[in-house]
Amino acid sequence: MTIDRHLVLRTYAQAAHTAYDTLTSLDQLSGDGDFGDNLREGLDLVVSALAARPAEPPFAVAAEVFLDEVGGTSGPLLGLLFQEIAGALAAGDDRAAWAAGVREGLAAIQRVGEAEPGDRTMVDALVPARDALEAGEDLRDVALAALAGARATAALRARRGRASYVGERAVGFADPGALGVALLFWSLARAQD
Ligand code: ADP
Ligand code: MG
Ligand code: MG
Repeated sequence: MTIDRHLVLRTYAQAAHTAYDTLTSLDQLSGDGDFGDNLREGLDLVVSALAARPAEPPFAVAAEVFLDEVGGTSGPLLGLLFQEIAGALAAGDDRAAWAAGVREGLAAIQRVGEAEPGDRTMVDALVPARDALEAGEDLRDVALAALAGARATAALRARRGRASYVGERAVGFADPGALGVALLFWSLARAQD
């Protein structure tokens, strides 16, 4: 199975535009309101960079953009995820490579950010996505697992990131970063055929 990586990232950028208002509102509730901008502008920069550098590995380009140019807590953390996906995909583009990339990306995010599952962060979308990928599930089911993980953050009180300062106020609403990561897996599923 070959997945068009350019298409995954272009679809992700479109999804970030579609979800912008939701992501912004959620980060206004639990943080400083910039997550929608960080994700949308970061992915727009990726799409431009991919058009200018079409022969380079797309996720390596995305990693460079997010690590060097995207702000917020989420920018560098997503940069690490893209970097590990790029590294795994360099060895092959089958399901095992995607599973390895997400597994290593999640590990890198946890090394740097020190969030555990249940802390109400993007980790809560990545863990079920990694597990579903490793179990060999269909990419639509991987995306649904990530989305379920993101939605379940609505019941959680944050222990990491800015949202940990606002306490109960954000309970009842999903973590924006978790929802933003779920959109990556939705884009991956969209690009599979
Ligand atoms: P900031 O809070 O610096 O403005 P963003 O708005 O760009 O950062 O991103 C916020 C998202 O980052 C949160 O919704 C959460 O998913 C994620 N996040 C925050 N802290 C961590 C952490 N320590 N580990 C993993 N993800 C985190
Ligand atoms: Mg923010
Ligand atoms: Mg910020």
